[in-house]
Amino acid sequence: MSSITTSSPNLAASVSPLLGQSLAELTDWVQQQGQPAYRGKQLHEWLYQKGARSLSEISVFPKQWRAELAEVQIGRSTIHHRAPAPDGTVKFLLQLSDGQIIETVGIPSYSSHPAPHTLSRLTVCVSSQVGCPMACDFCATGKGGFLRNLATHEIVDQVLTVQEDFQQRVSNIVFMGMGEPLLNTDNVLAAVRCLNQDVGIGQRLITLSTVGIPGHIRRLAEHQLQVTLAVSLHASNQKLREQLIPSARRYPLETLLNECREYVQITGRRVTFEYILLAGLNDCPEHAIELANHLRGFQSHVNLIPYNPIQEVDYKRPDSRRIQSFVDALKAHHIAVSVRRSRGLQADAACGQLRASAISQDVPSGV
Ligand code: SAH
Repeated sequence: MSSITTSSPNLAASVSPLLGQSLAELTDWVQQQGQPAYRGKQLHEWLYQKGARSLSEISVFPKQWRAELAEVQIGRSTIHHRAPAPDGTVKFLLQLSDGQIIETVGIPSYSSHPAPHTLSRLTVCVSSQVGCPMACDFCATGKGGFLRNLATHEIVDQVLTVQEDFQQRVSNIVFMGMGEPLLNTDNVLAAVRCLNQDVGIGQRLITLSTVGIPGHIRRLAEHQLQVTLAVSLHASNQKLREQLIPSARRYPLETLLNECREYVQITGRRVTFEYILLAGLNDCPEHAIELANHLRGFQSHVNLIPYNPIQEVDYKRPDSRRIQSFVDALKAHHIAVSVRRSRGLQADAACGQLRASAISQDVPSGV
């Protein structure tokens, strides 16, 4: 991955950021700088465990070398805004080196053991793009359009930022922030490698969520990862899906489901189907039965997401009785199902509420 080939500190300033690189790549890099190999291990530890934001703070490095490397980019963002919600969820607006702003959400889970309010899990909802080109009708991010893909270091940085802010190790990662991860597969997979091997987060605790891009789920399967694949289905038939998701017109439901079946065959891992519940639109018992018919015998799990309101459209979230009826109908057809609890609603940090409009206000002109 590294394109670092220089031994000149001046040139070093213009190469790709260090964050996202493996121990072997970092070791190569320090050796190209004329340093012994063990400095690579030190650099790795300071980047991924100690959260160094600049090389000058790595106190185990010789003073003179540190001064020479002051311009080398590590690849960390800055926190532009921090919005905590009463449930402990925190939404971060992170500013990237080109001035763009992305959203990342830290979602703590608490348990009563061993003491009340023990933090048991810390999940980070990461963005994979600045904005999103998919334009799903119910999602705030798509309303603001697409700006660019995130680089590997910009994805890894989001996790380190949440870890530092909560002063707690991140346990789970969900690629459910802004963007469509499978339109940025190379950088997303490089980030998954780094988060797994360098930051130390188990692959099984990482979820990639996609609305489905033709051919990409099969390609992902060939990587034989242990990550969880979540597919945003949201509808039990093609007509309804096209109404909600413009890109579905070029990706028939049957083709998508067949690709998911292949994914299960190739990886041996079950697929999660996300299904947003929109009152009166896709939440009737008939829809549950139609969905169950598609998924019969399929190694899968349905995750129902009651709609989180956004300004631009007036879909409604079904009430809890209706949600329960949908759950019961799926269960009656032997479909494994869970309901996602919305977190961070008051900070506009819940699924689908991460928006580009909040961002464009904040982006300095000219970037
Ligand atoms: N592009 C990817 C990942 C980003 S969205 C994907 O589509 O899967 C992450 C999840 O939040 C998706 O399942 C998405 O459909 C869901 N979502 C989007 N808008 C929502 C809203 N207003 N309420 C609830 N869930 C929403």
